[in-house]
Amino acid sequence: MFYLEKRDGFARIGRIEINGKTLETPCILDFSDEEMKNVLKSINFGYAPYIVKYLNERIYEALKPKEDRLEILTGLSVLNPYELIRIFRELKFSKPIYAVASATPLTIPILVYLGVDIFDNILAIAKAYQGIYFFEDFEIGINDLKSFPCSCEACKQLKSNKDLSYEEKSELIAKHNTEVLKRKVELCKILIEGEDLRNYIESVAKLNPELTVVLRLSKELEDERFSRFKKSKCYFNTIESFERFEVRYFLNRAVECYKPKTKALLILPCTAKKPYLTSKTHRAIRSKVKINVNEIIVSSPLVVPREFELLYPAVNYDTPVTGHWTNEEIDFVAKWLRRFVEKGEFEKIVAHVEGGYRKVVERALQDYEVVFTAENGLTSDKSIDNLRRELECYTDRYDLYEEMFDHMFRYQFGIDLNVKGEIRGRYPELELVRKNRLMRVDIEYGMLDVYRDVAKKLIDKKVYTVKIADFKPKSKIFASGVVDASKGIQPNDIVVFYNDDVFGVGKAVMSSKEMIEFDRGLAVRVKRIWEF
Ligand SMILES: [Zn+2]
Repeated sequence: MFYLEKRDGFARIGRIEINGKTLETPCILDFSDEEMKNVLKSINFGYAPYIVKYLNERIYEALKPKEDRLEILTGLSVLNPYELIRIFRELKFSKPIYAVASATPLTIPILVYLGVDIFDNILAIAKAYQGIYFFEDFEIGINDLKSFPCSCEACKQLKSNKDLSYEEKSELIAKHNTEVLKRKVELCKILIEGEDLRNYIESVAKLNPELTVVLRLSKELEDERFSRFKKSKCYFNTIESFERFEVRYFLNRAVECYKPKTKALLILPCTAKKPYLTSKTHRAIRSKVKINVNEIIVSSPLVVPREFELLYPAVNYDTPVTGHWTNEEIDFVAKWLRRFVEKGEFEKIVAHVEGGYRKVVERALQDYEVVFTAENGLTSDKSIDNLRRELECYTDRYDLYEEMFDHMFRYQFGIDLNVKGEIRGRYPELELVRKNRLMRVDIEYGMLDVYRDVAKKLIDKKVYTVKIADFKPKSKIFASGVVDASKGIQPNDIVVFYNDDVFGVGKAVMSSKEMIEFDRGLAVRVKRIWEF
């Protein structure tokens, strides 16, 4: 039985017991390790690679692996990216996935990203006998190596013994290659733990065009196993970054939830410091000009109405700023800016932007009347005067923080709660209080955390709720204790769990589908609990 402990998209950390041995996944099954012999002997590998399924389903049924504990994938290394993605589209992930004879330093990260849990060192051994030596990201022929640039036990022996036979030498290289694979798997584990695998994958994919294709195609597999809120920082370094789950989800959801109210709109450029309101430039502008209007911040690839700037990934992303915008970038950002603007009924649009940002606004709002106010820098006296002049007639107070809570709540829970309270705290660490704390901004994850009164309301509405069996949970709720879960819960979502006696707030570890389908594994981490 597989025991899920942590998710980062498809990638996961878990545990499985095979023949009395517990494997912490992702892991490498070492064919040269005596301890693994019993595990390996007990696995039914079957006689046909997975691809046979598409050639002749009847033959595949007869020859496929007969293995209840694992999903065995053989022959992955000979597939093209389209075939590979096709296989992953069909897989059921309730069992751990074992990709047989497919691990190399380059394939491990992308296969972990796609959801593979178990690898082996078959290729590490086979390649060693062909004289191929593994580096962290490359493979090199042993004859091209002047020395062994590694200090593992095997390499030490390779260095000190010049008279090794082909057999002895190959065996030592196999050991070294296996060590490299094990290190790679450990690295993936650390990245999953930090919810940071995607940033790494985007850089690794650049080392090989096929990996880039796999990464691009993997978009179509993305589903509720991806987190809407994460503690890691998004790096938008490559063209694939524009297609990230985080970017697509944020932009679509934010457009859906955006409810601008004011008659004028101010468009501003992004800042290196996040959240934007803590940046020098945005603070300087606000200290000199009274802003009582809706604001939209233009960045790349994000477009962020001010009300959403504390949400992940807007709260902490990083994007290389060169001042140069590609045509595709301008198109992409302009399209989204227009969609946000169309949500309002603005009688005036003021754009306090320059350079590439101005090009975005011009392309997005060709048929709108836009007043451009920046000249010689955003905070020059002239720019500030222009901006003040355009906005001074908008004096109706716009309560930004209150709107932020409303917008974030709608984005996160999909409903309007309409609870009002007093806003306390120092930006961005805000909380909403009415006698008791109602909710608070969780800056680490870029989301709202909720408290007793709000939790009760969510139970009434049955959104982001998990019904549990008759017990009082301590710090963890396991899938076996989940009776039902409302639709649409994704890992890291704030959820409210309840039974007849107790209720509380927790953080989902798996999707609601998994909570219901799995009978083992960690479903929710408990944050706080109350009695009814
Ligand atoms: Zn070594």
